[in-house]
This record gives sequence, C-alpha cells and structure tokens, in this order.
Amino acid sequence: MSKKPFSLQTSLIHSRGFDKETGAVSTPIHHATTFHQQDFDQYGTYDYSRSGNPTRETVEETIAELERGVRGFAFSSGMAAISTSFLLLSSGDHVLVSEEVYGGTYRMITEVLTKFDIEYSFVNMKDLHEVACAIKHNTKVIYMETPSNPLLNITDIEGVVKLAKANDCLTFLDNTFMTPLLQRPISLGVDVVLHSATKFLAGHSDVLAGLAVTGDEEIAGKLAFLQNSFGAVLGVQDCWLLLRGLKTLHVRLKESSESAYKIASFLEGRKEVEEVYYPGLSYHPGREIQVRQAEGPGAVLSFRLKGEEEVKQLIKHVNIPVFAVSLGAVESILSYPSRMSHASMPKAERERRGITDGLLRLSVGLENADELIKDLQKGLDSIQQINRSNVINL
Ligand SMILES: *Cc1c(COP(=O)(O)O)cnc(C)c1O
Repeated sequence: MSKKPFSLQTSLIHSRGFDKETGAVSTPIHHATTFHQQDFDQYGTYDYSRSGNPTRETVEETIAELERGVRGFAFSSGMAAISTSFLLLSSGDHVLVSEEVYGGTYRMITEVLTKFDIEYSFVNMKDLHEVACAIKHNTKVIYMETPSNPLLNITDIEGVVKLAKANDCLTFLDNTFMTPLLQRPISLGVDVVLHSATKFLAGHSDVLAGLAVTGDEEIAGKLAFLQNSFGAVLGVQDCWLLLRGLKTLHVRLKESSESAYKIASFLEGRKEVEEVYYPGLSYHPGREIQVRQAEGPGAVLSFRLKGEEEVKQLIKHVNIPVFAVSLGAVESILSYPSRMSHASMPKAERERRGITDGLLRLSVGLENADELIKDLQKGLDSIQQINRSNVINL
C-alpha cells in the first residue's frame, strides 16, 4: 500500500499498487484456504483464509486507507459487518441507536442482541439534547446513520462524538450513503465506520459485501479477533468484484450526485410532489451540518406524493429506474419504503417517522439525467390523469 497521502480519487486507482511477484495491475484472486508452513513453530503471514487471505487483505487495506483508519475488515454482507461489530458489546450493556436506522440493523438490535441481554433505546439523533438525555449509565455504543434512510435526515457527527466521549461510549456510524469520498467519520472522532459495500462501493448490483474500519489499534485488535471467531468473511471472488467496483467510485458518485441534484430540483417544482428530501437542496433542514461534515449530498433522495394510489400510478408509467430495494448502483433504483424496507414496521410507527404511503426513494444511477427527468415527468403527468378521472367519476 502506498504511504503517500494522495487524493482519494487517485488512491482509488493506485492504492493497492501492483502485484509484488508478477507486476499484475489487477489484484490476483487467491483461492487457497490454507498456506504451507515451513515448520511447526514457523508461521508465515497467512495460515488459513478465514484468519487472513491476501486478496481480502487488499480490500481491507484499501478501505482503511480511504476511510483514513488504521485497519479495515471485509465481511460477507453489510449486516455481517454490523452484527460482528456489535459483538464488541457484552451482556448488560446498552446501545443507543438512531431511530432512523436501516431495517436489518433494527432487526439485529431488537430481536437478536436482546437475547444476549444487550439493551437498546432509539433516539432522534437530529436532536443532541435528546441524545444527551438518552445516554444511560450502561450505554457503551452510540450508533449513527447519516444521512438517514429514507428521509435523508442529518446527524451532527461531531456533536454526538463529543457526548459519547464525555460518557465513555464508543461511536459506530453506518457510512453506506456517503462512502469515504463524501464523509470520513474517523476524522470526526467516530470509532467504528460500517458499510454495506453492496451499495455504492461495489456499485453494480452484483456483489453482497460489508466493511468495518477503525482508527484505533485496540478496537482493531478486538475486531480482528471477532471477525475470525464469527467467521462471516468476504469470499475472494467477491473481494475482487468489490476492488473492481471501487476503481470507478469517484466518477460514479460524481455523476450520480449531479443527476440527483437535477432530479431533486425538478421534483420540487412539480405540484404532484408534496415534499422532496435531499441534503443538496438549500432548504434541507440538515444542510448546514451536511456542508460542514461532508463533501457532498450524495445520490439518494426521496419525495412524497399524496398517497398510495399516486405512487401506483407513477410506478406504472416510469420505465428507466429499476423498481426494487437496494441503492447505490449504476442503475437508478426506485423503491417504496412503506412496502419494502420498512414494511415490517407498524404503520403508526412508520408514519410517525414520516414514512407515509406516498413516500418514494430514488437512488440515482448513471443514466442520462435528462432522460430520467423525462421519465419521471411522464409518471407525474399520469397522476394528473387519475385525478382528472376521479373528478369525472364524481
Ligand atoms: C443495505 C444496507 C445495509 C445492509 O447491508 P447488506 O449488504 O444488505 O447486508 C446496512 N446499512 C445500510 C444503510 C444499507 O443501505
């Protein structure tokens, strides 16, 4: 790994260097699960692939460098990275979690950690006063996700870190929506950064992967132990796909973010759209904090239509975005949180969080932005038609 502090854009291409033995510019895939040992008391760098593998190590060093941490860990999914990191907790501990957390993380915390007597509470992370009040004597981790899913609310990372440090808690942050190109939580004092690398980092809707990074040697030692003990490591073929995807992260994110801004601006001018949530818009409530702590608003936005019928009509008339869960891909992905990512949440709870039946989330991909806008325009125009036919039916 290069020690020179190149820009992240350059690091994405060159940080891993060439293969030492052959000069190959693409990282070799080491399928070996076991490694020859010279003698019973002489150990090489690698012994068994769960504990360490050269291909996986390249991924781990790359993400550590991008996040400006000391060590990275690659897992078989985002949830494997998140769940393994939670094993830093012990029974009797309490975790304080953003109420707008990813659904899988919500499930892990509420239905799995509780079996091991790890307590939790959810808090509105936008409000530092509420965070301060919710910290308990046994709180060991404060868990953030910013911008949040699906409403793109912003947490003041340094504000939460300050409260955590004053109360002897660790901070975890799910950085999936931003990637290290836009937000580097370790430099803001966060202890463990987590990723669903399935999304922007790999970027092509073809590999499931997770990453954890820390800037602290002691936590790194514990995570290495847990990664090896739990064993949910990323396979070498998937490591290679992730490395391949990472090379174009800068250009993908730049293009997608620019298109997201154009689309958000278009949507806010349409009367069928009640609200647009995108941290790049001047009136976004978290905009000031976002500008301070991140280098861009990213490529995910959501918008609110009147209700379910309008959503149904729009989806029927748009052709370009894939209608699916997930995000951060070359394809634009349109999803419907109330029936997809947040379907398991009781309706009242969902609506309290602003996830109404009219809310749609759009992860902007690499299609031509003007064509995406035209496509959405067609969908929105079709809503006017149902409204008109309702009037006629009356
Ligand atoms: C998708 C996602 C996860 C879970 O990652 P998987 O790779 O699907 O296990 C966690 N956090 C966020 C914000 C996500 O979008």
